[in-house]
Parts: sequence; structure tokens; C-alpha cells
Amino acid sequence: MISSSLGVLRCVSLKFFVGYNAYVAIMKFVADTMLGNLARWLRILGYDTLYSSSFEDWRLLRVAEEEKRILLTKDESLFRRARTRGLSALLITSDDIAEMLAYVAAKTGAELSFNPSRTRCPECNTLLMKISKAEALSLLGGELITKYDEFWRCGKCGKIYWQGNHWRTINSILEKANKLIINFSSKF
Ligand SMILES: [Zn+2]
Repeated sequence: MISSSLGVLRCVSLKFFVGYNAYVAIMKFVADTMLGNLARWLRILGYDTLYSSSFEDWRLLRVAEEEKRILLTKDESLFRRARTRGLSALLITSDDIAEMLAYVAAKTGAELSFNPSRTRCPECNTLLMKISKAEALSLLGGELITKYDEFWRCGKCGKIYWQGNHWRTINSILEKANKLIINFSSKF
């Protein structure tokens, strides 16, 4: 019971036209207030994704229209309004993160893989910058520094990230999501 927007088909052909890195740079999303988890995941995968728990419907529609963002929503009436306006939109019906990611990937061509050079802060959507171990040491203290080699910092909110134990969870969810893509591929 999943509906999709034919509008996003344009994105798929664009992917092959402009090359994958450029495609990631131009494919943008805006997520409704019920999709904070999906927004964080898309940011980790490098996709520019706006999300705020206070975004009202009119604002979601305006941002989708003005910034050419794909609207992600769990609200069927909002989805219909977006499509009536000719906006690209996906109606998300699952609550499972792997299914949600697989559905977005199947309908937009988004690639579900982690690339540290394009990852964004899951909290604020800013591109992360790699920092040296010396800088991480000054910000975090010694114990983590001995365990891990790579660190990233968000230039906006200041959060520091590293590939810790959660990494196995991220990889297993991405693996599951990639296997599920085929389930949604024929449902345009
Ligand atoms: Zn941040």
C-alpha cells in the first residue's frame, strides 16, 4: 500500500546524465514532522534533507516548490496536495527504517551507501569536515582517540563523529535496505 510520485522519475534519468556525485549534490529532500529518523539517515548518506519538528504543511509545500526538494511525508492528504501542485513527493507508509530507505531509493535512484566524503550532520544537515586526531584529542579527550582513527566535525553545531560501535548497526540496516529495494521497484 505505497504510493509514489511519477515526478521523481526525472531524478533517475538525471543521475545517469550528471554522474553520481553531482546527482547526490542536487537531489534534495524535505521531510515532514513524522520522519525525523528518515531525515537523519538520508543526511548520513549525504543527501541534503531539511527537517524540523515544527514544519507546518504550508511550509513543507513551499520549501519543496521553491527549493525543488522531494517531499517525504506520512500524511496522505499532504502527499495529494503536493502532487496536485506538480511537486515531487513520496508517501511513506512503513515505520521500519530499512523499508523507508529502500522505498526512497527505489523511487528516486538514491544510492544507499555511506561515503565519508559527502556525509552530513544527522542533527543539522551540514556537510561534515574530517578533522585530525590532534584536533579530535583536544575536543574529546584521550580514550576515544586511542580506539578510533577517523573523526569528523560539524562546522555548524560542533558535534564530533567517529566510526564507533553503532557502525555495525548502520551497515546492517543499509544491507537490509539494499536487499529490499527490488520489492518496490515495480510499484510506480
Ligand atoms: Zn551539525
